[in-house]
Order: sequence, then structure tokens, then C-alpha cells
Amino acid sequence: MTKFAFIRDDMDRLREEGLLINLRVMGSPADAWMIVDGKRVLNLCTNNYLGLANHPRLKEAAKRAVDEWGVGPAAVRSIAGTQTLHVELEQRLAAFKGVEDALYVQSGFCANQAVIPALVGRDRESGQQDVIFSDRLNHASIIDGARLSGAKIVVYEHCDADDLERVIGENLPNYRRGLLVTDGVFSMDGDVAPLDRLYAVAERHGVMTMVDDAHGEGVLGGGKGIVHHFGLQGQFDVEMGTLSKAFGVVGGVIAGARVVIDYVRQRARPFLFSSAVTPADTAACLAAVDLLEESEDLVNRLWQNTAVLKGGLADLGFDVGHSETPIVPVMLGEAPLAKEFSRRLFEEGVFAMALGFPTVPRGKARIRVMNTAAHSREDLQFGLDAFSRVGKELGVI
Ligand SMILES: *Cc1c(COP(=O)(O)O)cnc(C)c1O
Repeated sequence: MTKFAFIRDDMDRLREEGLLINLRVMGSPADAWMIVDGKRVLNLCTNNYLGLANHPRLKEAAKRAVDEWGVGPAAVRSIAGTQTLHVELEQRLAAFKGVEDALYVQSGFCANQAVIPALVGRDRESGQQDVIFSDRLNHASIIDGARLSGAKIVVYEHCDADDLERVIGENLPNYRRGLLVTDGVFSMDGDVAPLDRLYAVAERHGVMTMVDDAHGEGVLGGGKGIVHHFGLQGQFDVEMGTLSKAFGVVGGVIAGARVVIDYVRQRARPFLFSSAVTPADTAACLAAVDLLEESEDLVNRLWQNTAVLKGGLADLGFDVGHSETPIVPVMLGEAPLAKEFSRRLFEEGVFAMALGFPTVPRGKARIRVMNTAAHSREDLQFGLDAFSRVGKELGVI
């Protein structure tokens, strides 16, 4: 069919460049060990930091919610989709984070599409435009939210507060208002944004501040996230996050001052025009907040496991980059080597994903290793032994 020739051409190009995505199929819940494409392997790939994705208390809460509330809300939040569960979760999340209010949306991706265009854009009548100051390595969902807003996007160098100062000085006077937006933890390298210094610069210029804490929630600040880690609660304007990673369920959250959240509730299109999250998911998120408020045991176990795995990989002689978090990049250089490494690990019973261009820069291909609180010491040793064997075989160590 000639009308689809463009698809064939683009698919050919993706195939030639080795960029075609091939979906692996999981045959079991997200946990330390999983059935992947029919084979039982040690899982070092998921964002299930605290092991909550298959936790009995979350599963019990979800089952009870189905009995009590049914399976779907059958409405958007602004019409008939706001259930007691949603309101309760929002209040609990706000209290947990130490902010005035929070909004629960369908996903983290959605949260960025919801909040950024609510705060900045282009005024249709006057044509006046706002400006977004965005870290060079920000997540795709921030980039898409920023583009959707219609505001001017100005990129500053990765984690560089001096460069932020420079671009604000050059650009802010030409625009109506400004928004700083940065990932908290960068998911490819595991490094942490210098939130205190970025905040000081933005604040000095009256620029609104927003952080995407998808990989910091449940991980940094005793589980409360990056804003707590830097002691900035109540100061940072917007904390956006996800309930799909450390929380183990699904959904996004926008948290901050009441004046901001109230406004987002009026303006955010994914909130206004797409149905609410299911009762089962919402109840499971509430159970996750309960667990995190009761104790920091899971967070501590995650960090202990991180020390074992990251330290073990470094001791074996691998280059583990400059991660400050449980995300461990094992730097391998060229994409074909990373792919072969991942394939050999899988044969050895370890599931760890290779990442290459365009997800990471050319020549910086890697295996990204994610441990969780659900892994035992024996699990981690099994993983390290496999890395050792494959690393020697492929001449990496
Ligand atoms: C995963 C991720 C998201 C998206 O969250 P979902 O809940 O999976 O939609 C947003 N931002 C960052 C930085 C992420 O890593």
C-alpha cells in the first residue's frame, strides 16, 4: 500500500540502525526474580525500588477496593470520577511530602503534560510568551509537556546552576514569566540535580520552580523525595512525581502550595478530559503511603543493597559512572558491546537492559542495573557472579 510507504521506510531505517524496540514479555509479577520471555531470571531492570509492586499489603488493599468500589470510576475527575479514595490519597500524599496540597493524575507522564502548560504558555490575545528553563538531560515527558505549553524552551547545561543563572539573565527580560524545570534524579546516570543551588538562582530571579521526582520518591530523603533530601519542603513550588516506580502501582502526582494545585485542578487538560485512576490502583497507592509512613526499613534496605551491588561491580573493575542513587550504569562504550553483554547476561540468568543511542549519547552505551529492596544478598551475589563471568569473557574487566 503506497499510502503506508513512509512506515516501511522508517521501519527499515530503525531496523538498519539497530533501534527497533523488541518487547520482552513478562510471565510473572514484577519482583526480584521474574519469568521473562519464558525464562526465570534475576530481575535488575524494573523501577520497583521498594519491592511494592507485588507486596501483599498493596494487593490486599486493591482487592478490597474492587469489592467496595468496583473496577472503574466511569468518569473524569471533574464530572463524577472523584471518589473518596482519590481525595484521601491526595491529602495523604501532601502530608507525606510536607506540602499544602497534591493532585493525583493518571501517570507521571500525564502529570508533566498537566502541570507545565497550566503554569506557562503563550497568551492567545496578547501573544505574550513565557519561558521554560530546562536541564539538557530532562526526561521526555518534561520535554513534551514543555512543547505542549507553547512557552519558549531554553536549555541550560546539565546540573549547572551557573549556566542556569546565565540563561535566565539573557532570556527572562524578554518573556512574561519563567519556570525552572529539572529532573530530580536523572534516570540514565543516577546523578542528582543540585536542587539547592538551582533553587537559589531561580528564586533570586522570581522564576517558578518545578522538579520531576520520579526516581527520587521512595528513594531519597528517607522516601519522601528530593525536596526533603535538600530540606526545601514548602519552598520549592511544584514537586511532580509518579506512583509507578518506588510506589509500585500506577499514577502521577503534582504536589505543592495550595494556590498552585488549586489552579492546576482548574486548568490541567489531562485531569479535566481523561478518566480518573481506578479504585484498586488508588487504594494500593494509599497502602504504599501507609508503609512508607510506618517505617523507613524498605528505603534502608534499598540503599544497603545499592551499596553491595554498586560496590561489588566497581570492585570487579567495571566503570559504574557517577551515580549517587540506586540506578547503576555499567559503562560499556559502544552499543553492540552493550547489547551482546545484555544477551549473555540473560543466558546466565540475569535480566539487565542495554541502553544505547538515542536514549544515551553515542559512545556511552551501557547496561543499566536497578536493584530493589526485594533482592536478597544471595540474589545480588548471583548477579555479581554473572557480571564477572560475562565481563571477563567479553574483555571488559
Ligand atoms: C518514569 C518517568 C516519568 C513517567 O512516569 P510514569 O508514571 O511512568 O508515566 C516521568 N518523569 C521521569 C523522570 C521518569 O523517569
